[in-house]
Amino acid sequence: MGLFDGKKGIVFGVANKYSIAWGIAKVLAEEGADVGLSYAMPALERRVRPLAEQINARYLVKCDVQNDEEIEAAFEKAKEVFGTIDFLVHAIAYAKREDLDGLFVDTSRDGFHLAMDISVYSLVALTRAAAPLMPNGGSIVTMTYYGSEKVAPRYNVMGVAKAALEASVRYLAYDLGPKGIRVNAISAGPIKTLSAAGVSGFKKLYQYFPKVAPLRKHVTQEDIGHTAAFLLSDWARGITGEVIYVDSGYNILGLTAPLEEI
Ligand code: NAP
Repeated sequence: MGLFDGKKGIVFGVANKYSIAWGIAKVLAEEGADVGLSYAMPALERRVRPLAEQINARYLVKCDVQNDEEIEAAFEKAKEVFGTIDFLVHAIAYAKREDLDGLFVDTSRDGFHLAMDISVYSLVALTRAAAPLMPNGGSIVTMTYYGSEKVAPRYNVMGVAKAALEASVRYLAYDLGPKGIRVNAISAGPIKTLSAAGVSGFKKLYQYFPKVAPLRKHVTQEDIGHTAAFLLSDWARGITGEVIYVDSGYNILGLTAPLEEI
């Protein structure tokens, strides 16, 4: 018996096998879920289709979250394939490369809007589209990072977007709670992915992290997958509007330099 036997849902944000979205999809499928996948660009299908086949996904849809028609079409297709769904994973973010370098004060209006649209508004849009397919309640999980709360140099506009994303989680949880739909975020420690590679200085941060995080190790795709599975499952039925840290304990630190180096 798997934790997700008889449960259906969609994971948005698979770019390749290193994506956090893929780590989550794999765990859900292993636990018996009927998992559909969504990706952003036609060019990605080559990479994502073999992953979909690996978990016997019946649903594989391209959806650029900046495009309302594509969102509508993705959920029409979901209704056709699944009828109803139990869970949705939003693991999507984007900012211009130049806005993930240098100073936050230099962020352009255009870059700010773009980051907010793809990384924040998309959660609102996908949640609104998914809710009618969750008549018996459901669970939604998105991905955030500690740069929302504290300054992470060069994370810049994405830190501001993640703060808005976490606030959106709370407002969505409030709106949809009466329908039995829960909305939560996972705040993950650094993981080597395509998006992470776009943040200037990520490599240094990644190397530093296990030296100071209380658990003295990196978090893995599987660590995120297991926590996401918990939040998406009935075992988390009393939890909504929360940000859960999967970061080897990094967020509890007041002093992030190793003592021996001070
Ligand atoms: P990833 O594999 O690059 O995933 C990011 C996904 O967002 C990609 O599939 C990307 O597709 C998609 N995306 C971008 N623009 C889109 C659009 N317009 N429409 C639909 N999808 C779009 O990187 P990841 O690290 O797994 O990121 C997943 C989530 O985890 C993000 O929210 C990220 O901020 C968060 N997170 C990551 C870390 C980390 O260290 N990696 C830590 C904390 C939180 P394209 O590749 O086609 O653009």
